[in-house]
Amino acid sequence: MYAAPDRMHKPDNELVDLVFDYMRERLQYDPVPLDHPGDGAHLREALAGLLNDHGNNPADVLKLYDHELSRAVISADSPRYLSFIPCAPTKAALLFDMVVSCASLQGISWLEAAGAIAAENQVLRLIADRAGLPASAGGTFVSGGSAGNLSALVVARDTARRRLGVGPEARLRIAVADQVHSSVKNTFNIIGVEPFLVPAVDRRLTGAALRAALAADPHPETVIAVVGTAGTTNEGIVDDLAGIAEVARAHDLWFHVDGAYGGAGLFAPSVRHRYDGIEHADSFVVDPHKWLFAPFDCAALLYREPRLARAVHTQDASYLDVLHTEGDEWNPTDYAYHLTRRARGLPLWFSLAVHGVQAYTDAIETGLRLARDTAQLIRDTEHLELLHDPQLSAVCFRRTGWTHDDYYRWSRQLLADQIGFVTPTGWDGETVARFAFLHPGTTMEMVREILDTMA
Ligand SMILES: *Cc1c(COP(=O)(O)O)cnc(C)c1O
Repeated sequence: MYAAPDRMHKPDNELVDLVFDYMRERLQYDPVPLDHPGDGAHLREALAGLLNDHGNNPADVLKLYDHELSRAVISADSPRYLSFIPCAPTKAALLFDMVVSCASLQGISWLEAAGAIAAENQVLRLIADRAGLPASAGGTFVSGGSAGNLSALVVARDTARRRLGVGPEARLRIAVADQVHSSVKNTFNIIGVEPFLVPAVDRRLTGAALRAALAADPHPETVIAVVGTAGTTNEGIVDDLAGIAEVARAHDLWFHVDGAYGGAGLFAPSVRHRYDGIEHADSFVVDPHKWLFAPFDCAALLYREPRLARAVHTQDASYLDVLHTEGDEWNPTDYAYHLTRRARGLPLWFSLAVHGVQAYTDAIETGLRLARDTAQLIRDTEHLELLHDPQLSAVCFRRTGWTHDDYYRWSRQLLADQIGFVTPTGWDGETVARFAFLHPGTTMEMVREILDTMA
């Protein structure tokens, strides 16, 4: 018998129930378990033969996922996940992510997706207002801070080329401090610009240091932009944005602010002053999939003058002409290097609309408080040494007498015992320990339990 080719596209309530029941259970985990690193040979064996011609029973496939695959993924949304930058999506955001999927929501062009884009832009406007960007500001949601930094710095480069009347052969540089995120260094490589390295002062890029470095350089005219970090990933330190903005204006530099991790602090009154000067940014990135409690993968990219981004990123092809007609209010695709894009801003929009902005402020302040309380606990503990006063929610510290291997052994054991996922990091070439707080369900009891294992 000939099977209907649209058999995969027909409504299938059994499959709906199977997957929704699983999701209902996953959403009720409290707390979410950490789970474990994976063993390649074991995983390959579990998956062997699965992708065959005739398919499998969906319940069996889901069981394989649940029992084998999902256990080999460390849960970024566990309150004991304190490494790198965790992810702690709200339930409302997670659920609406399913709506985005189930409704095939894209956010490419106004012609196709005005309703989704209007909602995404409402969120971008809220963020722009918190940063103090002008009414003209706008942008799009991209997959992450890396994509945002790349898209923004291409605009910085091409805007400078146009202003200087130079082509791709001209040597161009972008000012950064050493602490700048690795994705910015990668961007330089991709877009063919060189870093103009400014020595950090107390681990921060300052306006004074930038001014001095430009004055001491024989070719300051080749420096066309500066990247300020609003929350370094390792230590949560915010650069001197106001000072940098002043120098940027004096030297005609594009001022990009990478707030992928720390940008959410704009919503936290206790640290808002650290971001003063961000209102002068030409472009700004913040990852809602980090500290604004959205699911992966979601970064908000804003431009002070979106038309400059449009001039660089709009794709030109006969089959796209129809997108760029009179009355097209906003085409998100024109503001980054992408074309097709998921309406990935909507989970955050839904959650913000449901819970209100104050709930976000409260949750962000909780992470900040955890960092301050943990710092105090470390100061008060004989064998621990705090390496910096936390500005945001990252805390780096040392266990007196421990070597590189001690930290790695301890970290592995901590995860094996499901007490915490806390990976070592570097501090001036030394291996140390680090917490990144973000999940409002993390408690000081959990922190104490983890620190007790270092005794
Ligand atoms: C996480 C981070 C990035 C990269 O963002 P992705 O979403 O991982 O691509 C860039 N800059 C900073 C400061 C970050 O913390």
